[in-house]
Amino acid sequence: MDYKKYIADIEGFPKEGILFRDITPLMADGKAFHTACDEMIAFAKEVKACVIVGPESRGFIFGCPVAYQLGIGFVPVRKPGKLPRKTVSVSYDLEYGSNELHVHADGITKGQRVLIIDDLLATGGTVRATMDIVKQLGGEVVGCAFLIELKDLNGRAAIGAQTPVKTLISYE
Ligand code: IMP
Repeated sequence: MDYKKYIADIEGFPKEGILFRDITPLMADGKAFHTACDEMIAFAKEVKACVIVGPESRGFIFGCPVAYQLGIGFVPVRKPGKLPRKTVSVSYDLEYGSNELHVHADGITKGQRVLIIDDLLATGGTVRATMDIVKQLGGEVVGCAFLIELKDLNGRAAIGAQTPVKTLISYE
């Protein structure tokens, strides 16, 4: 499927100099959304995932249908102050400032095969932080899947060559 025709390119959002890839037209098209989720489901089966972990908020959009279809769990990765119980967290640097991500401490069990799903891979900061939390909790990241990869930002280097990565759309 030619997914790119369902992505809107927005120049200058959320600030000057950024070209934002808006996935909402793809989500609004039943066939495109369904096909994209199916591809992620096939990948989840391939890597024998036992649980899906997805960063807020667009990781939920693709992660939950995959978990539902496979009858496995979905664990949310959230910004500070959102999860009500004990969490494990990791801080990571952004271009300006830093960010912190949290997962419930009992969200992942030791040895669980984790597939991380998000909408977009840019610098890899978000997925790297998520991988580090999974590791702290004793889980094994068996793969990472994204709708979009921005290749020039080299997010794959942050993931590392030994972890399988699936992306459905890539921009140079
Ligand atoms: P990274 O941490 O630099 O890899 O950025 C990836 C995260 O930023 C993902 O969680 C995305 O949801 C978000 N993101 C970055 N750029 C875009 C974009 O152009 N469109 C949609 N989301 C984006």
